[in-house]
Amino acid sequence: MSLDPYTVLGVAKSADGAAIKSAYRKLARKYHPDVNPGDKAAEDKFKEISEAYDILSDPAKKQEYDSLGREGFYERGFGGAGYQRPDFNQSEFSFDSIFGDLFGGGGGRRSARGAGGFPGNIRFGGAAGPRKGDDVNLKLAISLREAALGTEARLELGIPQTCPQCQGQGVLSAGGGIRACPNCAGRGQVNHLENLKVQIPAGIKDGQKVRLKTKGSPGDNGGPAGDLLVEVAINPDPVFTRKERDLYADLPVGLYDLLLGGEVEAPTLTGRAQLKVPAGTQNGTRMRLKGQGLPAVKKEPAGDLYVTIKAVLPGKLGPEAKKLAMQLAEAAPPAMAEK
Ligand SMILES: [Zn+2]
Repeated sequence: MSLDPYTVLGVAKSADGAAIKSAYRKLARKYHPDVNPGDKAAEDKFKEISEAYDILSDPAKKQEYDSLGREGFYERGFGGAGYQRPDFNQSEFSFDSIFGDLFGGGGGRRSARGAGGFPGNIRFGGAAGPRKGDDVNLKLAISLREAALGTEARLELGIPQTCPQCQGQGVLSAGGGIRACPNCAGRGQVNHLENLKVQIPAGIKDGQKVRLKTKGSPGDNGGPAGDLLVEVAINPDPVFTRKERDLYADLPVGLYDLLLGGEVEAPTLTGRAQLKVPAGTQNGTRMRLKGQGLPAVKKEPAGDLYVTIKAVLPGKLGPEAKKLAMQLAEAAPPAMAEK
C-alpha cells in the first residue's frame, strides 16, 4: 500500500492527536469489516485506515514518517528494517477494541475524578454510548439577610473537564507503549478554573439547592455534562432568628419608655422600623411588626417580625434621681412596685 497516512485519514500535517483520532474514528466506523461483511473493498480501505492510524497515533512513528517522508519511512524507517505493517488479525484492531476504546464501552477507561474537593470516583467499564456526567454538590454559606432578600454569589471553582491532552482516556500512547497522561495524572479529567455567578432567590431556605446546568462533571462519549448543585447553608444571624417567613428578635427598650410609653426603633432586615410602646409595657412582652419578616415572593406573603421587649434599666442613680425613684416607688401601683 505505502500510502500517505495523512491523505488516507484526510487530515492536515498539522493535525493534533484529537483530530487524528476523530478522523480515524469516523472512517473506522464506516469501513469496519463487521459493518461491511463480505465487502472486500471496505476491508482494504479499513486496513489502510488502520495502518495510517497506527503510524500517526504513535508519536515516534509519526515523527519518523514526518522526517523520512513516505518512501524513506516504508523502506528504511522504523528501526532501520522498514515499517512493519501491523497484523490486522491482532485484537487491537478488532471491532470490539476499536468501538470499545474509542467509544468508551466494553472495558474502555471511563471518567475518574477526585481533585478540587469534589468526591472522587473511578469507574471502569459500563455501557457504551453517551452518558451524562455526574452532578457535583457544593455548599455555600450565606447570611440570613442574603437568604431573605436574595443575592448573587460569585464562586471561583475548579470545574472538572475532559482532559484535553488525553481526550479523557487517562492514558497516552508513546513509543509503542502506553503511559498515564501526565496532564491529568490518569484521571481523564482536569479542573478548569471558572468564575460562576449563582443567583440565590429571595426566601431560600437552609439546605435548599440551586442548580447550575452543565457545571458538573463532563459526560462520557459525547454525553452532556452533569450539573453543579449549590446547597445553601444559612449562617446564624446576630439579630434575627427565622421561623418560616417570620423573624424573631430581642428589642432593648429603656425603662422610661416602658413606664411612660414611647416610640422606639426596631431593627429590620432592610433597616429600621418605628414601634409604639404603650405606657406600662412589661419586660418580656412580645410585639408584632406586620410585614417586616421575609419579603413577599411569588405566592408567599411577607412574614412578620416579632420583637421581645428587653427592659434596659438606668445605671447607678445620683442623689436627686434616687429621691425621685423613692417617691415613684411609694406612688406606683403595688403590682408594679413588687415587680
Ligand atoms: Zn489526560
